[in-house]
Amino acid sequence: NSVFSHVVKAPEDPILGVGSLCVRQIKVVSGLDHEMLSQVTVAYNKDPSPVKLNLGVGAYRIEVSFSFLFYRPSVLEMPYSRYCSYRISCCNGLSYLCLISGRSRVKEYLPITGLAEFNKLSAKLMFGEDSPAIRENRVTTVQCLSGTGSLRVGGEFLAKHYHERTIYIPQPTWGNHPKIFTLAGLSVKTYRYYDPATRGLHFHGLLEDLGSAPSGAIVLLHACAHNPTGVDPTIQQWQKIRQLMRSKGLLPFFDSAYQGFASGSLDTDAKPVRMFVADGGECLLAQSYAKNMGLYGERVGALSIVCKTADVASKVESQLKLVIRPMFSNPPIHGASIVATILRDRNLFGEWTVELKAMADRIISMRQKLFDALRARGTPGDWSHIIKQIGMFTFTGLNKEQVTIMTKEYHIYMTSDGRISMAGLSSKTIPHLADAMHAAVT
Ligand code: PLP
Repeated sequence: NSVFSHVVKAPEDPILGVGSLCVRQIKVVSGLDHEMLSQVTVAYNKDPSPVKLNLGVGAYRIEVSFSFLFYRPSVLEMPYSRYCSYRISCCNGLSYLCLISGRSRVKEYLPITGLAEFNKLSAKLMFGEDSPAIRENRVTTVQCLSGTGSLRVGGEFLAKHYHERTIYIPQPTWGNHPKIFTLAGLSVKTYRYYDPATRGLHFHGLLEDLGSAPSGAIVLLHACAHNPTGVDPTIQQWQKIRQLMRSKGLLPFFDSAYQGFASGSLDTDAKPVRMFVADGGECLLAQSYAKNMGLYGERVGALSIVCKTADVASKVESQLKLVIRPMFSNPPIHGASIVATILRDRNLFGEWTVELKAMADRIISMRQKLFDALRARGTPGDWSHIIKQIGMFTFTGLNKEQVTIMTKEYHIYMTSDGRISMAGLSSKTIPHLADAMHAAVT
């Protein structure tokens, strides 16, 4: 039986769908957050040193430190629809996909649920071309404001309609998670995830904590490239997590902010999510295109809820509209149109996957180079976690005092938990980073 079978169909809104306002008591639990990151960036900006390095923020940089160019400028113009077209243009070394808005329709409001084609293609990207859940119309997908907005809408929906209000998030996790879910009206608890002793997964602790969670509890899972640790379960470990969660009726809520970034393959990175969908059970998914398409500021993302039946999915969607309408009315059109254009077009999609692979490979090669540089310096300690961890971030294991040395003496800026963005490194800056790490631990 569906855990959402009691959800009733909401009436259509006379204009776009107005829901009732609900003011809640707010208690925010702390975590690594934007204030901390912005402090890092402010200090970095003030530092006049020519060798300064900002490894705090998770933005992809190529060797010459431009943002990710997500496909080649050789694609000069492409038709989008009968209403508009797009063109690549270069500005300050960055490539932009520009909307040529000759006709007024392109700037009109989208429906509350966003661009329908974008939603369909986003679901396919994660669940797979031939996903039975999609074929059976059991998936409802709504366009939201990037990953953050998708998590928030999902959290608010669950707080309103799901019987268990507790969400378990990994310890540690992205600093925004506890805030998003607390503000959404859920009660946030943690499960063990990272083991500082091995700088790897605390698998035993994870199973124990989820095993003692109340039946039906929601569990936030990073789909791949866990932030901030860079530690992902193996496929075998995912299977065990899935079995345990299904046996206890725990509800998976996947956060996918880095599809394609971990392994370089969109399909490989989607495997854990597909595994949960293949067993026929329900789950939620928040997708972001900020990193993998370099569309950070466009705020493009999607929330999908996989249900047991098409009927439940349609009722769930009607209620999602009531969450979205008073939150942001309807999502922005530009970024979603870019994503839909790329996902729809075989050639553009092919180019994007090649770029993604190159990005993931470059991060992996930075890991190897940093590891080699530390070994060459004879830096004390086992640094193999640098090459074992995956995705944009490495949890170096450096403590607060060591991070202070890195910043004060070497002008290297990072979060105080020792996390560095591997994507912010280049072969030129690695020797400087290795010198700093060596000095900090000796
Ligand atoms: N989830 C995780 C784990 C993240 O690291 C991020 C971004 O850093 C997000 C979600 C959401 O990012 P955005 O709202 O920019 O898509």
